Amino acid sequence: MSEVQSQPGKLLSVGGKAMAKEWAKAFYNSTEWKVCREIYRARARGLCERCLKRGIVKPGEIVHHKTYLTPQNISDPSVTLNHNNLELVCRECHEAEHRGLMPRRWAVGEDGTVAIV
Ligand SMILES: [Zn+2]
Ligand SMILES: [Zn+2]
Repeated sequence: MSEVQSQPGKLLSVGGKAMAKEWAKAFYNSTEWKVCREIYRARARGLCERCLKRGIVKPGEIVHHKTYLTPQNISDPSVTLNHNNLELVCRECHEAEHRGLMPRRWAVGEDGTVAIV
């Protein structure tokens, strides 16, 4: 008389990163975003805003959302299409921004302690 049943089908959908950013695809392909992005790029004169602050003139390549897009705010134009939430950055600055969120690597010391390197 077993009431607990295993559901292998359900377990398959847990975890994994195959679905990562799938929810953002439609937005990134939308005309609204493409137009908004190009207007912003022109307003920023096509230069990386972060490099410019440090006195470096470098072309910006990516329009970054200061408030990161999430499945919750992806359909909210005050977040996704708001110029105040955008920043034109070069590839390096963009990578630095997103890399800063997560530890790049873990290192396990000889005594077993874990450190972020
Ligand atoms: Zn830059
Ligand atoms: Zn970004």
